[in-house]
Order: sequence, then C-alpha cells, then structure tokens
Amino acid sequence: MTIMKNSLKNTPVNTIDIVNEQEKLFSHLNALNEGIAFFSRDKVKILNNDHFIQLMSMISGDLKIFSSNVFEIQEFKEITNFIEKYSGEEISSSDLPKTEYQITKDGRFFRIQCVIFNDKSFEIILSDVTKMGKNKLIKQQMTSNIAHELKTPVASVKGYIETLINNPGMEQKKQKYFLEKALAQTDRLTGLINDIVVLNKIEEASTSYLIEKVKIKKIIRDVRDNFKSSIEAKQMKVEIDIGNDVVVAGNKSLVLSVFQNLIENAIIYAGDNTTIRILVFNEDKKFYYFSFSDDGIGIPEEHLGRVFERFYRIDSGRSRKSGGTGLGLAIVKNAIQLHKGEISARNRTGGGTEFLFSLPKQD
Ligand code: ADP
Repeated sequence: MTIMKNSLKNTPVNTIDIVNEQEKLFSHLNALNEGIAFFSRDKVKILNNDHFIQLMSMISGDLKIFSSNVFEIQEFKEITNFIEKYSGEEISSSDLPKTEYQITKDGRFFRIQCVIFNDKSFEIILSDVTKMGKNKLIKQQMTSNIAHELKTPVASVKGYIETLINNPGMEQKKQKYFLEKALAQTDRLTGLINDIVVLNKIEEASTSYLIEKVKIKKIIRDVRDNFKSSIEAKQMKVEIDIGNDVVVAGNKSLVLSVFQNLIENAIIYAGDNTTIRILVFNEDKKFYYFSFSDDGIGIPEEHLGRVFERFYRIDSGRSRKSGGTGLGLAIVKNAIQLHKGEISARNRTGGGTEFLFSLPKQD
C-alpha cells in the first residue's frame, strides 16, 4: 500500500483531485476488517491493504509471506483454478464471476473470496470468521441439545396420558399417581423453557438490560427466604457474611438468578446438614470478589472445568430427578460475564464446592 501512496505523491498538481480520491480509497481499504488485494490479469499484485498480508501469514503459517506469493500457497489452490477456468472466457460486467470458500487453520476459520472483473483483473478478499464460525457451531449444538432435552419430558407426559386412556378402569389412587407424574414433567418442561429463554436473552440482548444499584445482602436474604422450606427440610445453614454497603452495579433479576441457581444447587447437591457460606473475600476499585461455598459432596476434579457448559451434568440421572436442566451454571456464568465479571469453581480442601466470582461496583 505505501509503495503506491509514495508514487502517487509525485503526481502533477492538476491531478490533485484524483490523488485525493485515491488517498481516500487507501484509507478506506486500510480501515476494513477484511484483507483485500487487487491483481492484474497476469496475476501481478496492483494493490493490497495491510490486513491482507496479516491474514495471508496466518493462513499460510509463513510470517514473511508477501502478497505476490499468494498463488504458491496450497490454501489458495481453489482461487488459482478459478482464475484459470475463466482465463479464456468472455466476462460480462453485469455478471462478474465470484467464488467463495472457507478453510480452517490452527483452530481459526477463514473465508476466501475472489471476484474476476471484465478485463480479467481480479480481487481477493480474506476474512477471519473464527467468531462467526464458532457461534454457528455453538448455536447448532444448543439447538440439538434443546431438542434432545425436550424430547424426554414430552415422551414421559405422553406415556402417562396413554396409560390413563388405555386403562379406564384404573383405581383412582393410581390415576392420581400418573397424573402427578405427568404434572411434574410439565413443570420440568416449563423450567427448561424458562432457562433457555433466560440464556438466549442474556446472549442476544446483552445491552438492553437495565443496570441499577443492587444490594447484595438483601438479594441473598430474599433468595434464602424463598428456599426456606427446603433448607429447613435438609437441616442446612446459610451464613451470609456480607456488609449492608455491598452494592453492585447490575441487573437485579440477573444477579438474583445467580444466587438463586447457586443456592438451589447447594440445596440439591451438597446434602443434608451442610452449610452454605457467602462472603466478599476481596474488592478493588472496580469489583467485589465473592466466594460462595458449601461443605457438601463437592464436584469431581475432572468435571470442574465443564460444569458451566450448557446441559452439562455430572450425574444426569440424579440431576434430572431433582428437576435439573444442566443450564443453571451456564446461566450463572453468562449473567456474570454480562456484568464483565468472571467465575471459577474449585473444591474446598475441607470438602465441598466453592465458586469464586466478581461483580462490578457502582462507578
Ligand atoms: P443442573 O440443572 O443439573 O443442576 P447446573 O448447571 O446447575 O445443572 O449444574 C451442573 C452440574 O454441576 C450438576 O448436574 C451437578 O452435578 C453439579 N453441581 C452444581 N452445583 C453443585 C454443588 N454445589 N455441589 C456439587 N455438585 C454441584
């Protein structure tokens, strides 16, 4: 790019407008996220932006690559064939030949595009679409997981109803049993759908959440009170060591769902006679650092890195029985990340699980 620029600087004054226009084009090309290069019909480079060289080095794995070497790179073979295919053909300017394909290199996804103009010169456009590629994969995975998860409760409800229809003489006590079972499955479906909606909303509308002052101690007390009967039934204790002055800049319903999911999990998995402890273990200018722990069964080391994944369960039978969707910790992580915080999980030395996470302070 700079080579062309210098040569244009020596152009006579009466072509100053053209030079200005070309300068505009250069800065426009350099501002693009894509790598772009123009070549003459005999494959000599006319112009390229800096991104083109950077993306070429990533694709070829050669840091010293120059745009003139494009046609020696294996990954560009399709482009070379494409150009050769059209070398003897008439090209109409209203229907320029285009080709596009995607390659992966070292875990990254690149899109390569080529357009041939009617004078047989051509342009190559390179884009790093890793993020798009990954998102697409995640979306596909999510959709098939959702379908799988929905199938089980729907099949059970169907089974219970069919049993009732096919056995009209069934005694009332048994009928009630099947109806209750079906009802529990519809509750499970509702829970699943709600979790999916929350997760999607966090991902897709991350900027539309109202951020307000959230008093953490009050939130935790509210959640604890909601779970009062299950906490008492399991003879658990909840210790909240958080000052009244701990105020987070967050979305109330999302912060609530963080503590709701963590407390609910502790109740389900930690076990009887356990204690939940919630405290602020550190703070800096921007964040409060929270510790949420229980002294229950803990999470086996090999699963620790994966519990935040959607639909990941350690003991799926047990989790399903307790109404678990495998989405609880994914919601927790996404909600915390939406607040620019971080979360990790570890096992306590004395037994039990500890979640460490940060939430932002008021500015
Ligand atoms: P689920 O809906 O199955 O509870 P989560 O995403 O909330 O899904 O949790 C994922 C898995 O992590 C659970 O299936 C459970 O095995 C494990 N888990 C979560 N919290 C705890 C905890 N406090 N103690 C032990 N295991 C836990």
